[in-house]
Amino acid sequence: MEFSQYDVNALMYVTNRPPIVFTEGDGMWLTDHAGKRYLDFLQGWAVNCLGHSPQCIQDAITAQVGKLINPSPAFYNETSLALASLLTHNSCFDHVFFANSGAEANEGAIKLARKWGRKNPNAKGESRYEIITFKHSFHGRTLATMSASGKAGWDTIFAPQVPGFPHAELNDIASVERLITDKTVAVMLEPVQGEGGVIPASREFMQALRKLTQERGLLLIVDEVQTGMGRTGKLFAYQLSNVEPDIMTLGKGIGGGVPLAALLCQEAVACFEAGDQGGTYNGNPLMTAVGIAVTNTLLEPGFLQSVKDKGEYLSGELKKLSTKHGLGAERGEGLLRALDLGSEIGTSIVETARDLQPVGLLLNSPRPNLLRFMPALNVTKTELDQMMAMLSDVLTKLGK
Ligand SMILES: *Cc1c(COP(=O)(O)O)cnc(C)c1O
Repeated sequence: MEFSQYDVNALMYVTNRPPIVFTEGDGMWLTDHAGKRYLDFLQGWAVNCLGHSPQCIQDAITAQVGKLINPSPAFYNETSLALASLLTHNSCFDHVFFANSGAEANEGAIKLARKWGRKNPNAKGESRYEIITFKHSFHGRTLATMSASGKAGWDTIFAPQVPGFPHAELNDIASVERLITDKTVAVMLEPVQGEGGVIPASREFMQALRKLTQERGLLLIVDEVQTGMGRTGKLFAYQLSNVEPDIMTLGKGIGGGVPLAALLCQEAVACFEAGDQGGTYNGNPLMTAVGIAVTNTLLEPGFLQSVKDKGEYLSGELKKLSTKHGLGAERGEGLLRALDLGSEIGTSIVETARDLQPVGLLLNSPRPNLLRFMPALNVTKTELDQMMAMLSDVLTKLGK
């Protein structure tokens, strides 16, 4: 098939895309309309935690699709019950609400915190609703989650914003303390800012936040849409700093590529009443069956350790590459890593890597001076080495 034969304008314009149509995926590899193969370090934006079309997801969907797709969220179904138990047994949380996207899970977290703030008013008896979030954070593309996000320019594009989201500085506890008012109900953050450029909250900061929120009667919400489900080498990133948040959201990896997300909370915070929260597709058997297959794979003995080991290996290789080509520092947790390029060559690298022949390399540059690496968690050492060799070629081509 020629690219010109596709009617790409039938899709609503929302972003610039290269003239490539992907037709097949297998593990770390994608194939386009012309048969060219690409080593994929985007993995559907960190969603394919087990690579493209893994056997366990094929099996789970095939088994479930002929059995039960959706009895409606007004009834219990077996797979959502099983996945909820799997998640609560492997985390500090007691209850799960399933959603269809990370943004929707975060909307749920915001609603839950605000509801809790009505039930636990301030000294004047007023509801508390302000949620302190962070500059450069990303929580989704609905109106409330865009308002919660600290992305430059997002406060004006679809003004007026949803009020109640003052932004503090990550890793600066005093900046959080300064924003606390008698209306504050929660602090919400990504344990590693993903879209903001892979910036980890330090262990000390996470611990100081937990202490501060506990002392001031506030909830701690972790948005683990990107960092959860093994991405950092722990099942959930909050476990890296030994804190127990009140609320957590999951997305991306939990569905291994299909639309599935979750909102989890501790018993003391579970205050939704009938009718407060819901959704037609929420917790449907088809998607939650996939969630079970993915979660069980991550929990297999040695899997999370292998993510940690490969993360350390990738980190070491990126450091060597940086020295060889005169680039900047590398950072991240587990298999969510970034390399500071020292100059604004991110876009040229992404395009040159994609155009390599005979096979291309797909990379992400969330900022002009940064590359982000989010391979499948079951990526092999050989594939990591292949990516490093291709990236080194690209840098040489660009005169670095
Ligand atoms: C991707 C992401 C979201 C949004 O998830 P969607 O499924 O795209 O709505 C929210 N928070 C974080 C931290 C993310 O990385």
